[in-house]
Amino acid sequence: MRDRQRTYAGIEIYEQWRDREGKRFPNNETRSIDQKAIEDLIAADTPAKIREFTAQWFPFTDYYAHWKHPEFEEEVKAVSDTRDLVMLVLELKRMADEEVDSREAFESLGIHFAPDKDEGFEIAEMFYLGSSHRLLDIVRAECDFDKAELALVQSMQEAGITKEELDEMGYLEDDGHFFDPFVCSYASGRMVQKYKAYLNSQKERAGEVTQDGRYPVYYFFGGHLGEQFSAKKNRALYFIDSIFWIFLQGVRMRTFNGVLRPSADSNLTSLWVRLSESFSDSRITACKTCGLPIIVSGERGTKRLYCNDTCKRKYKRALKFASLVNDDGMELQDAAKASGMAAATAMRILERNGIRVNSAQ
Ligand SMILES: [Zn+2]
Repeated sequence: MRDRQRTYAGIEIYEQWRDREGKRFPNNETRSIDQKAIEDLIAADTPAKIREFTAQWFPFTDYYAHWKHPEFEEEVKAVSDTRDLVMLVLELKRMADEEVDSREAFESLGIHFAPDKDEGFEIAEMFYLGSSHRLLDIVRAECDFDKAELALVQSMQEAGITKEELDEMGYLEDDGHFFDPFVCSYASGRMVQKYKAYLNSQKERAGEVTQDGRYPVYYFFGGHLGEQFSAKKNRALYFIDSIFWIFLQGVRMRTFNGVLRPSADSNLTSLWVRLSESFSDSRITACKTCGLPIIVSGERGTKRLYCNDTCKRKYKRALKFASLVNDDGMELQDAAKASGMAAATAMRILERNGIRVNSAQ
């Protein structure tokens, strides 16, 4: 039983033997992204925490020797985009775990549905508007997306569409090569707005694009599904696989002493492998305190309710606050002082858990 789950656990970084100053690790030791790192990334909900994570796992997108190390600021953006996409995958998995059956649930993320050419079938599509050119360039290189879009643009030209017309339609060009936003690619601000190439949570970022700017855009296809299954679990699972796919192409098959041992080309790849592993026999719940997603493995033992001990302690304090107000009739500000937690914070946590506070005083 356990063996079945021991697939790529702790996949190591191929030949990662230099630290960020370019010094060799002693004994050529390697390190790999662990479950704690995934939890740290989920918890990194501020720019400062994103930087902290980046520093800890630098270089994030590359393992190569120090002279090729990417700029720290570029890596911060790559980590930030990675976190957005990890959160998206976790939300889709939560929907699948809870047997979603709601078109609105998908549309509220920014997923677009469209009729398929086969009657009774629908397709679904989703875009993510990135901030890191570096992350997109890596994905494009690993997935050969430039070849894919070459074929697409060629077929458009065979259909009689000229380069000038492509340019007018807002396709970005780079030395005769056209980018097609229907693979993971670059898009002009005009195209970002025309195709609503962003998640609903990114409306603000999308509102700031300029017409002829150049933006990293990720396109995810959600499959052809019969209408009766269109807004259900399988749709969420299809999208999850679409997102994982672009980040798993850096897994290299090799051997150690002749035995197969896959390895990752970067911390980025290692992280996605590890995340995928954590999905076997697990489900996603939300922390009772902060609402961030928690990956709960198996159903044995005590169920995890909080992302960490800090959140657990905060929840206890919020309960104390509620009890002081509701049972002892204490004023909100006094209860806040006595429970060691700001009233607004306590109220937000209690509201998340459907606990009413008697504030009619
Ligand atoms: Zn929490």
